[in-house]
Amino acid sequence: MTDRLHPEIANRLRRTPVRLNRRDFLSAMGVILAATACGGGEDGQTTADDSPDPPLVGSDPFVLGVASGDPTAGEVILWTRLTGELGDDEVPVIWEVAEDEDFSRIVASGWQMASAALAHSVHIDAGGLAPDSSYFYRFRIKGQWTSVTGLTRTLPAAESSPDRLRVALASCQDYSDGYYTAHRHLAEEDVAFVLFVGDYIYEDDDDDGPRVAGLADSFTLEQYRERYEVYRSDENLQEVHRRLPWVMTWDDHEVRGNYAGTVDERDDGEDVLARRMAAYQAYYEHTPVRVAFALEDPANTRIYRSFSYGDLAEFWVLDGRQYRTEQPCDGEQGPPCDEIDDPEATMLGEAQKTWLKEGMANSTAHWRVLGQQTVFVLAEIEDFLMNPDQWDGYRAERRELHEFWVENDVDNLVILTGDLHAAGFATVHADPADTSTPAIGHEIVSTSLSSTSSDQVPARAITMALDTVHYFNLEKRGYSVCEFTRDQLRVEYKVVSTIFELEADLEVDAVFTIDYETNQFSS
Ligand code: FE
Ligand code: CA
Repeated sequence: MTDRLHPEIANRLRRTPVRLNRRDFLSAMGVILAATACGGGEDGQTTADDSPDPPLVGSDPFVLGVASGDPTAGEVILWTRLTGELGDDEVPVIWEVAEDEDFSRIVASGWQMASAALAHSVHIDAGGLAPDSSYFYRFRIKGQWTSVTGLTRTLPAAESSPDRLRVALASCQDYSDGYYTAHRHLAEEDVAFVLFVGDYIYEDDDDDGPRVAGLADSFTLEQYRERYEVYRSDENLQEVHRRLPWVMTWDDHEVRGNYAGTVDERDDGEDVLARRMAAYQAYYEHTPVRVAFALEDPANTRIYRSFSYGDLAEFWVLDGRQYRTEQPCDGEQGPPCDEIDDPEATMLGEAQKTWLKEGMANSTAHWRVLGQQTVFVLAEIEDFLMNPDQWDGYRAERRELHEFWVENDVDNLVILTGDLHAAGFATVHADPADTSTPAIGHEIVSTSLSSTSSDQVPARAITMALDTVHYFNLEKRGYSVCEFTRDQLRVEYKVVSTIFELEADLEVDAVFTIDYETNQFSS
């Protein structure tokens, strides 16, 4: 999308937020002092002019940037969060969506009250937009501050037949493990959206990389908020959010490493629900997600959802954490234990699984795509299990999905995955344990943006020995770009040479092409 902008426009979009001079500042104060009654009153999607006058905001409140996400054919979520000495003040935030970067052709606008209860974040579901169109958006505090200008894009109409979709797949951005070197390149990608499949933060940075988050492990809402502030202060990350809409789901580290539903694998008596309540709320406050968030019950926030890109692709974005049962075999790598085939074990939970099956059975999309967290294909060899936190620990449910796909003639399946801190490409066979059965799809595992790999030498040996796996790279950090067309899916695995420096070259480490008709791949 952004590549289609005139370079001059793109350059001007890099401007910093507008800072008021002293005269404007005093006149803004005059407006506030002169106000005898609050105009507008009710929070709403009325015109920006109807918004009540804001309290005096003493410093630029938009330093965490702007973001958009979950586009549909007519709407997009616009996000920002005000920071500064706001206390318990309520602050009306004006939003504007325009066709031009000077905002002379505003197509949608309104205002929303930012309050301390949600850390002064706002989520605007900006509607009335045209399908398959690019827009500029910004936020304002009336008479005082204006945010940077963001760019976003709607999806094609449901009944349309687009012939191309480019998506960037990304995950795992540990702040202290490295710089957001790959993000710089990601921000420049010509893609409809970024699909982010988890580990947006790490609750327990060990600060052993090139930079320091300087935070204690997050447990309380305040601690999680503070962590998001550190992560979101990174200008490369801000730039990716500013230039591209994101579709996001979470994995474990948004709460705590390897948590499963309400169970903490460390078994130290921790109240996982309390932690989830704080972590899910902070996640909502800092991400441009279209989810029904309830302040009364943050620990139960449904994030799984689906959407279509015309008739070319349908996406199911999954939650593999909130509803799962505890990992089998004490979560340990090694020979599979007796509980490995437990029919009661679940990654998705009953409600999500039913929703997924119904959606996939009824779908007429050309490609059926899962955006999800942990590695799906079998990763076990000679009785050595690589990681029971992955789908290998939830085999009965994986088998159930395979059987469902075969029964419903699903053979255009694409599984987009993160978590592993390594890139991979694998064939999904009709029978997960029998590679002589036909291919029904492929799994694309994106490497991490910045999170480094722990010692995974045995994992590597295992993966290289599996004949479903055709590519594996755990050394390099980056992301993947998937281009869906009618005839094929083309995947580019992109990596940077280092994340120990802020700037580094990007290169394409591997390219795979999947033929739509035959499900055969080439590289
Ligand atoms: Fe990770
Ligand atoms: Ca993870």
